[in-house]
Amino acid sequence: MIHLYKLPQEGLRLNGTTEQLALEGDVSLRDLTWSVFALASDGDVFLEVKGQAVWQGACSRCLAHLDRPLTVESQFLGSKDAELVARGCHTLGSQDLDVVFLPEDTLDEAELVREQFELQAPMHPLCAENCQGLCPTCGKNWNKGPCHCQPETSTTPSALNQALAKALAGIKLDPQS
Ligand SMILES: [Zn+2]
Ligand SMILES: [Zn+2]
Repeated sequence: MIHLYKLPQEGLRLNGTTEQLALEGDVSLRDLTWSVFALASDGDVFLEVKGQAVWQGACSRCLAHLDRPLTVESQFLGSKDAELVARGCHTLGSQDLDVVFLPEDTLDEAELVREQFELQAPMHPLCAENCQGLCPTCGKNWNKGPCHCQPETSTTPSALNQALAKALAGIKLDPQS
């Protein structure tokens, strides 16, 4: 637990490792190493979270299992001052920092670390840029080859082409005026 308003003058640095951390959904992190730095700043608290982990989840198109390295490096200002928080941003030195509302006197570093890693987690990860996804009808993984379902869109373009061909033919056949 970090006591935000009883920080040593030189700041407080905490380092830790977490073997496994479950996130929302079917997602988890493993092999986390992290460090948290908290420094008093004019009644507010400068906070820095750095760390690395392996993100374990699934491709958002084909649902294949994915492992991704995840790096977190985040700095912000924690404040009790609702007005400052409403402004959303605070310049400290040459840095523009986001301001986060921290109404309590203490901060749970494990919770802070989890939040910051969660923010960095990929939203729509893909196993490959050109992942083909799953067939919506039979569920076959199209990366492993096509299925035998009738593609839904196959009739639309050809019908359109036919209409277009007819229209063009009609133009050609028009007697000259
Ligand atoms: Zn995929
Ligand atoms: Zn199919």
